[in-house]
Order: sequence, then structure tokens, then C-alpha cells
Amino acid sequence: MNQANQNLLHPSRRVGADLAAWRKVGGGKGLLAALADPENIIATLQEANLCGMGGAGFPTWRKWEAAVAAKSKNGDKYVVCNANEDEPGTFKDRVLLAETPHQVIEGVLVAAVACRANKAVLYVNPHQTESIASLTPAIEEWKKSDLFIRIENYLGKPLDLQLVKTSGRYIGGEETAVISWLEGNFPFPRRKPPFPAESGVFGAPTLINNTETFANIPQILANGAEWYRNLGLGDAAGTKLYSLSGDVLNPGLYELPMGTTLHELIYVHGGGMLEGRTFKAVFTGGPSNTLLTAKDLDVPLDFVSVRERKSSLGTGAMIVISEGTSVVRKVSEYVEFFAANSCGQCPPCKGGTFQLSRLLNRVDTGIGTSDDLQALQSLCKLLPHSGRCGLIDGAVTVLQSSLRTFPEEYGLPDGQEQ
Ligand code: SF4
Repeated sequence: MNQANQNLLHPSRRVGADLAAWRKVGGGKGLLAALADPENIIATLQEANLCGMGGAGFPTWRKWEAAVAAKSKNGDKYVVCNANEDEPGTFKDRVLLAETPHQVIEGVLVAAVACRANKAVLYVNPHQTESIASLTPAIEEWKKSDLFIRIENYLGKPLDLQLVKTSGRYIGGEETAVISWLEGNFPFPRRKPPFPAESGVFGAPTLINNTETFANIPQILANGAEWYRNLGLGDAAGTKLYSLSGDVLNPGLYELPMGTTLHELIYVHGGGMLEGRTFKAVFTGGPSNTLLTAKDLDVPLDFVSVRERKSSLGTGAMIVISEGTSVVRKVSEYVEFFAANSCGQCPPCKGGTFQLSRLLNRVDTGIGTSDDLQALQSLCKLLPHSGRCGLIDGAVTVLQSSLRTFPEEYGLPDGQEQ
């Protein structure tokens, strides 16, 4: 991981599975602060303005508050760290887990304290072998630690902390699919409500957050909400892990103040475009959002500012493409990804993503007709909100965005797009 400033949020480079090393760099302080004043945890997260880093940017404290308030029928409550990360262009969670597993585990344990949960799960993609190699001994170290005994004393019951390997499927990261898998079923998403915080694994209240979100928790509790907020630029709070890839000189994972501009990310930290290449566009937050173009280089990369440009910060993935790269080809690849990863239970998604992919492939390979373009545009109107989860909406969003932004690549005159 690259940092512009070594005093940002994730200080434990390559601490690995050594809990003593984590505690030497301040680990454990956040958890102790949580145990000293459990009633204040959620207020601190609210004051810090921490938002979920898995894509939606939803205020973390609201989810936690719902999980705290929810009554459990059988006495169980779950906290789940979602580390299924499987989206093209996003590679932050696997690095966090491999390099600083204790930071993430500590965040999960703070959540268990806040919600009085007796089940804590690290839900990890089995393809991320480095994450699993790092987490497995780290979990065992925590279970033997004095801090863990203090948590169980506070809870008044044993805490079951475990690593569960996900199905390794992209759709398994959708939060209702997480629940389904943890109940022993295929990771089929279901409609919401009920939301997991109210009724999750086997009907028990279940708090599900992204890995990066949990990684921020110990530092916020140890150093205070104001310290965290001040790490961000402008009105944005904290830092963000940006997964920078594509046609830049120095692709990689960058931890930078939330609100760093797209221009600074690409041209300062990313070293600029590859030699001889000119910036064309960015697929932001993975392949399911609205494209940003040269006129957006000044946008601060935070949830609000990117939303104001009608896009989404998503996971913080930034896939940069240069002039000469076919947008139709890229979109075709991404829509093919969605078609291949549809779980198939909603007919409009199963058939719709397949049709989008087929039509895009025809356009991309030069055999598309005006009927194909019309069919693409019609599907963009028909398909949104027709599935139980957001997969189909993501496929349509990126396609519509490309039709709007680069109509000429589809053979459409300006103004004829969606
Ligand atoms: Fe599965 Fe697609 Fe329906 Fe989501 S929208 S539940 S991926 S079929």
C-alpha cells in the first residue's frame, strides 16, 4: 500500500499476524476505549462521519444503531466483516487483510462490543490466499489474548470469532447473499427489507460492513472523531483507499485523504498517464458506475462530490483509460462480467444481462446494426430495478453512461443517445 503521509489511518505495514507488533503501534487502544465507554461508540462514529467503504457510502453509525436496537429472538447477534471483494479494479480489502489483519479484527471486535454480538465472522474470499494466511493465525492470537477475555467478560457470554470462506462468487458479496451463505445455502440475494441489521443470519440481527470500514474503527476510537474528520479534505472525513489501475504509470493502492482530487490521484500519486497516452475517462468505483471524463478531473474523490457528478465513489476503484481505448470494448467486457456473475434467479437479470452482453459484442466487433442499438437502448429503459439486487442496475448504469458520454463510439450522433 502506498501512502502520501505516513501518519494516515493504516500504520501497521506488514504487521502480519503478530498481535504484539500490532499493539506496539497502538493496536488495542480503540478496543479498550470501546470497552471503557460502550454507550459512546456509535455517537463517536456519527461524529467522525464514517461512511461504509464497500460501495454505498451509507453512514456506518446508522447501520450500527439499527443492529444495537434490534431484538434477537434466540439471543444471537452477528457481526460480519465482508471481505468477498471480487469486483474488477478493486483490490483494497485483500491488501488490508494481508498487511494489517489485527486492525480489521479489532474493528470487528469493537462492533461486537457495541452490538453485544456473540458471533463475529470474517467472511473472506477463498481466492485471496494471502488474506487467509494472515488472518487465520491472527484470529487465534486474538482468542488467546487478555483483550478477548475482557470482551467476553463485558458481554457475559462467549464470543465465537471465526473465519468463513465465501463461495468465491462475485454475487456472494451482496449483503443478503452473505446471509444466505452463512446459513449454509447458495448465496442468492433476496429483496430488502427486512434489512440484515433487523433480520439476518437465521433471523438474528446481523451487522455487515466492508473490511475497510472495520479497519477505520480502532483508529477512530483511539484518536477521536475530530482527529479522524481532520484527516479528510474540505467537508470529507478520514482517508480512503483508492485502487488505481489502467493506463497510468504507477498503478497501485493509495491511502490518501478523503477528498483528494481525481487529478492528484492520477497525475501526482499515479505518476500520470503512460508515456504517449492521453487521459480519456475513468470507470469509478468499479465497473458499475457512471464514467468520469476530463471535465471531472477536478472532482474531489469523496462520496458527496462524486455523487454530485452523477457518479459514485463506490469502492474507491479508479480504472483509467486513455484515448485510443474503445469504451464499447471496455463496457462490453464489464457487462459480460455481470452476465457471467448473475445468480440467475431473476429472469430479467439472467436474460437481460445476456442480451446486453450479446448486443454489445456485436457493436464492438463491427457487426452491430441500428436495430441492435435500438434494442440496447430499450433494454436500458426496461431492465433497471427488475432484479432482487443491484447487479442488473450496475450493468445498465455503466452502459447508459457510455452511450451518453461517447455516443460516437456506438455510431450514434450526439444527442441521439439515452
Ligand atoms: Fe441474481 Fe441478478 Fe436477481 Fe441479483 S438481480 S438476485 S444477480 S438474478
